[in-house]
Amino acid sequence: MYKIFWFRKDLRLTDNHALSGFVNSIRDKDTYSFIYIVNISSLESCSEKRISFLLECLSELKYNLKSKGLKLHIITGKRLDVFKILSDKFGAMEVYANEQVEPYCINRDEKIKKLIKRNSGKLYSFSDSTLMEMNKIVKDDSLPYTVYTPFKNKFLKILSPLDYDECKVRLNKLNPDKQISLNIFPEFNLQKEYKKLSKSDFIKGGRNSAVRLLINFCKNGINNYHIKRDFPSEKGTSLLSAHLHFGTVNVRECIRAISKLKKSEGVEKWRNELIWREFYYSIAYNFSYIVNGCFKKEYDNFKWNYDLIGFKKWCEGKTGYPIVDAGMRQLKKEGWMHNRLRMITAMFLSKDLLIDWKLGERYFAENLIDFDFASNNGGWQWSASTGCDAQPYFRIFNPFLQSKKFDPEGVYIKKYVSELNNVPLKYIHNPSEMPDEVQKNCGVIIGKNYPLPIVNHTYACKIAVELFRNIRKIT
Ligand SMILES: Cc1cc2nc3c(=O)[nH]c(=O)nc-3n(C[C@H](O)[C@H](O)[C@H](O)COP(=O)(O)OP(=O)(O)OC[C@H]3O[C@@H](n4cnc5c(N)ncnc54)[C@H](O)[C@@H]3O)c2cc1C
Repeated sequence: MYKIFWFRKDLRLTDNHALSGFVNSIRDKDTYSFIYIVNISSLESCSEKRISFLLECLSELKYNLKSKGLKLHIITGKRLDVFKILSDKFGAMEVYANEQVEPYCINRDEKIKKLIKRNSGKLYSFSDSTLMEMNKIVKDDSLPYTVYTPFKNKFLKILSPLDYDECKVRLNKLNPDKQISLNIFPEFNLQKEYKKLSKSDFIKGGRNSAVRLLINFCKNGINNYHIKRDFPSEKGTSLLSAHLHFGTVNVRECIRAISKLKKSEGVEKWRNELIWREFYYSIAYNFSYIVNGCFKKEYDNFKWNYDLIGFKKWCEGKTGYPIVDAGMRQLKKEGWMHNRLRMITAMFLSKDLLIDWKLGERYFAENLIDFDFASNNGGWQWSASTGCDAQPYFRIFNPFLQSKKFDPEGVYIKKYVSELNNVPLKYIHNPSEMPDEVQKNCGVIIGKNYPLPIVNHTYACKIAVELFRNIRKIT
């Protein structure tokens, strides 16, 4: 039998369920190949920084396989088309992959499964990217949870130490001579493509970098996580999100790493964030309509604003609200944004500007290196109050107060909104309050060197609450 291992969001050779299943399935007579499919058209909507990160992961993976005499074939094309070509060429074949539970991936994989089956082959899929298989954590009536806390409580009850167990992948069992070369596809020139792209100075792709971050965080960061995680000028979080997305580190490895540590508030808080990730995966899996609309369907009738000038100012970090602008500029510069800022900027777009959260969701998807459908959609719907277990619509963040509380010295603001560097601390959170004299002294003329606020927060809040209340009355 010809067998294929298909790497997807699991770009590592250790603790990988499908890879272990694949290696164990190989018999002496079998031939095999390792593939990764780059779908150029879906990459067009990603930032260069995200693609660079992916290529860094692939480059290291390719190298690690090569050191064992194995070859990773990086194939460009649409996944279904690639499997059509492979099926035509090899007939019956077995494909091993870890499942992707995003609704559009499920549909695509169904088509691929049927195509392979038509030629008497099989696609074997394994649960790997979450701690729990989808729908293992359900309510007593077998329905999915839509509220985080009971989900988490059930999760912690069910999670047994066995789930932490490392899944051993014995790649040295494979005979490299049994590999089939896939020269029916043109060679993807990874180095050449990589050179063309802009890179993030902030996070680097690849297994080595993921492991380093995890070890370093467990050693130096996790014990203060609960204290520092909300302060964007601190290095208070793990920065592992993109690695968790691309699978250069697995969430089981994270849980195993912290289970060796002494219990502490920081450890518990970080574990709970990993469970938020599981929760949003479960929501995306069970409520596929959230790809196109609100979790709470009544808000599909909400009359959002489509003010493209306001949207552009938000994207560019020119709203006149320093904390919002700093967050948006961090995203553009680094391809990553601190969680507190994701909440502040998302709420500002959906409540202060009343712009459709789906535009913001797409902008984040296009610019975040760690873009992950389930967490991004979950975060946006939480901020816009349209989601499950979301922020109540009347509890709108005040950007000035958020700024004072979480960036009291204006360190984060000054890092990304450098034109405010000389603004006195008293005015850093709301420079439009500076008297003319102070503006002149610090060289920042509001309306000229830095914009006036594009909206009045107090007034905008009143309108937002009224509109949300009306929708609830109608439905
Ligand atoms: C509007 C909005 C959009 C978001 N978009 C994404 C996204 O596209 N991809 C993404 O991975 N996260 C997203 N998040 C969640 C969160 O902001 C990031 O996971 C976190 O900032 C990543 O930094 P870190 O790895 O240092 O996190 P840490 O604080 O170290 O947390 C560890 C891990 O837990 C998970 N996690 C933490 N917070 C959350 C959360 N609120 N929801 C789900 N999982 C969480 C992540 O996998 C993270 O890497 C979004 C949040 C909001 C409010």
